[in-house]
Amino acid sequence: MKTLPAVDVVIVGGGWTGLLMAKELGSRTPLSIVVLERGGPRKPSDYVADMDEVKYGIRHHMMQDFSKEAFTIRHSASDRAYPLRQLGNFLPGTGVGGSGEHWGGLCKRFLPDVFKILSRTIEKYGAKRLPEDHSLQDWGITYDDLEPYYTRAEQLLGISGQAGNLRGKLIDGGNIFEGPRSTDFPTPPNKIEYLGSLFRDATKSLGYHPYPNPSATISTTYTNPDGVSRPACAYCGFCSGFGCMIGAKAQPTTVLLPVIERHKNVSIRTGAWVHRILHEGSPTKGRARGVTYVDASSGEEIFQPAELVFLASFTLNNPRLLLLSGIGEPYDPATGKGTVGRNLNHQIIIPAVHMFLDKPLNRFMGAAGGVGISMDDLDADNFDHTNLPFLRGGVFRTFGDNLPIGSFGGVPQSIKARWGSEWKKTAIHYYDRAGQISFTGEHFSYKGNYMDLDPTYKDHNGDPLIRMTIDWRDNERRMVEFMVPKAVEIARAMGAKEFIPHLGLRHYEGTRYQSTTIKGGTIMGASPENSVVNTHLQHWQVSNLFVLGGSTMPYGAFLSPTLTMLAHSLRTADTIVNRYLKQPGALA
Ligand SMILES: Cc1cc2nc3c(=O)[nH]c(=O)nc-3n(C[C@H](O)[C@H](O)[C@H](O)COP(=O)(O)OP(=O)(O)OC[C@H]3O[C@@H](n4cnc5c(N)ncnc54)[C@H](O)[C@@H]3O)c2cc1C
Repeated sequence: MKTLPAVDVVIVGGGWTGLLMAKELGSRTPLSIVVLERGGPRKPSDYVADMDEVKYGIRHHMMQDFSKEAFTIRHSASDRAYPLRQLGNFLPGTGVGGSGEHWGGLCKRFLPDVFKILSRTIEKYGAKRLPEDHSLQDWGITYDDLEPYYTRAEQLLGISGQAGNLRGKLIDGGNIFEGPRSTDFPTPPNKIEYLGSLFRDATKSLGYHPYPNPSATISTTYTNPDGVSRPACAYCGFCSGFGCMIGAKAQPTTVLLPVIERHKNVSIRTGAWVHRILHEGSPTKGRARGVTYVDASSGEEIFQPAELVFLASFTLNNPRLLLLSGIGEPYDPATGKGTVGRNLNHQIIIPAVHMFLDKPLNRFMGAAGGVGISMDDLDADNFDHTNLPFLRGGVFRTFGDNLPIGSFGGVPQSIKARWGSEWKKTAIHYYDRAGQISFTGEHFSYKGNYMDLDPTYKDHNGDPLIRMTIDWRDNERRMVEFMVPKAVEIARAMGAKEFIPHLGLRHYEGTRYQSTTIKGGTIMGASPENSVVNTHLQHWQVSNLFVLGGSTMPYGAFLSPTLTMLAHSLRTADTIVNRYLKQPGALA
């Protein structure tokens, strides 16, 4: 194995969190920093005139190559896990920018009570109301701790939106359920597509409080505090699943790369597939020495020594690299002991109702995912659950994206023809007269939902794949039973003539896309007994190792976790610069 000269910092993964850390440390310190990214290089100009649904939407050109590395999945520890050989429930990215290049850009802050999920729920409803096998825990950090970093993350990305709670003052038209924000959004809300305006009017007429989605696809030209300028969204419709052709959507390559490139102390090494974190000492005490990786061009295994190691390789790979490297104690669901792999969580995300209207909706215009209208009246604990058979809730929303291939073919149930010329005629008629109200619900953490190394299946390097054991419980199923009729009521108020309500949750599906926002596995907390990293994202036992991203989130709160990941990463960067570098070691 070849050994390279040592650097100060090595960052595994060149996506949102890895490049943000590289930008922060690169511009604020003289440290030598290397980012190791398994995929290839990327730049914003790659996306100009490349709005190709077959290439990106169907053939997943920007995503992880499952022929090299997949994961296995099962519903419970007594089932056999099977490998997914095609992308399904989520679409992890590869290459510079990671999933952040083709993300949707929905950028909502988590509600304040999410960070105190266990104590607040017990306080209000009593411990007996919690599902028997839950593994909920408070995060060890509060919304107020994170608020300044939410503000910085919003300014970095230029988030467009309408404040609903400015320093405690509730503002009509914004999300009145959001936590108090110290500043307004950096840019005004986006234009709303026609379907969204119907949803907004209908939900208002039913007494709800709709608001425009906070979006990283921006409404107006914006220059961020780093001096990076981006133009306004053109509402072209090719958004989630694509890199933005004009740079209106904040992506790591548009927001972070231009700043990183100004700093000679940071380099990004592509085609560098990290295998292991080398460390000295025992699994539960020691020091990281650096990482080994396979260089894609030569096939050679290389050791990159470093003083500080950051894992930023997405939720699937952060716990996997710890497990492969023998760092920390693997979680054992039978005894509850160990921490690496625990609290795997996702979100419920379903089309609560498909609806057919009697007028064209112009749904080819819009910006999927980020831009649209949401309502939070039935989210979290924003409504009383005393007499309901479930806890917590979720968000209803509509958004604009009617891509020509993926969105074609839906017809109302009253149409009997399922093929042939009559079906074709009807499908063309309804292509632009159909839409959905999407429901995104919270997912509790359970003792039986976790990640470990698969004993059977391996990746192209011969290393065990990560195995996900995950299923819904009655709390999620009952939540959906309650929510679907609410969505139907809204669809009626929107003037839908026919609709197809969701049939209800059964088991977690690995093959249906449900958002690339899987979380947990290396969770943060206030104690090493039940978490892998402290609230500064520092490994409890290996103090020169930090873990970034969704794997550090103990709980499956709302759909858009990325803003919260970025806020946490900014807080960690502050901690490194202001505290750790002055006195390296475990942070109190
Ligand atoms: C289609 C889509 C829509 C989305 N929409 C939204 C949204 O609207 N709102 C929201 O909040 N979030 C959304 N997300 C999720 C968002 O993209 C992720 O939360 C975010 O990118 C995670 O950042 P990260 O740095 O943890 O991982 P990533 O951005 O995925 O970066 C991880 C990087 O690590 C690299 N890597 C992995 N393993 C290794 C290894 N062994 N060696 C070297 N490199 C490695 C990967 O190649 C990748 O580049 C969406 C994602 C997708 C795919």
